Amino acid sequence: IVVHSATKYLGGHSDVVSGLAVVNSAELAEKIAFIQNSTGGVLGPFDSFLLIRGIKTLAVRMDRHVYNAEKAAQFLSEHDAVKNVYYPGLPGSQGYEVNLRQAKNGGAMISFELKDNYDINTFFENLQLVSLAESLGGVESLVCHPSSMTHASIPADIRKKVGITDGLIRLSVGIEQINDILGDIAQAIAKAERK
Ligand SMILES: *Cc1c(COP(=O)(O)O)cnc(C)c1O
Repeated sequence: IVVHSATKYLGGHSDVVSGLAVVNSAELAEKIAFIQNSTGGVLGPFDSFLLIRGIKTLAVRMDRHVYNAEKAAQFLSEHDAVKNVYYPGLPGSQGYEVNLRQAKNGGAMISFELKDNYDINTFFENLQLVSLAESLGGVESLVCHPSSMTHASIPADIRKKVGITDGLIRLSVGIEQINDILGDIAQAIAKAERK
């Protein structure tokens, strides 16, 4: 049974929360459908509509997401203010070889850290196109601060062990014009430098 989120790229517009269980046996599918029908955990009509609409443009959105993400990862890896970039589609990045064997590309999720003389809050405050928000895989580029947002409930020592530092920034690369995304990130980084 493959359990997959439909909240991210399948929906693609940060406006639906849903998921799916996929099986390759009609018998198992019927059992699961029975449980779903009897417990009532079904997606509402409007959410279903949003999801079906989203799926129609999945292929073209993904092409642009990945194109933009590869550019953004390259840009960040060459930027003087950036300490680390984590993106499996970037040659030299951790997991690059494994990812090459298992996937066509690196997707559009990037994490990075700024050098210590940059203030992360000032960076977030000065972004104009890219929003600070907890959602991933939508058409709009978003950044999030995992240690205080999505991963804040994880004890600090475990966060540290798995690499979720207080300086870690997660970027969900959207489908906007790539120069707009890079320009916004560049100007926010410039303002974040501690003088
Ligand atoms: C990912 C996400 C969820 C959880 O959705 P799943 O389908 O369980 O992954 C909820 N809200 C937001 C904003 C999200 O980005």
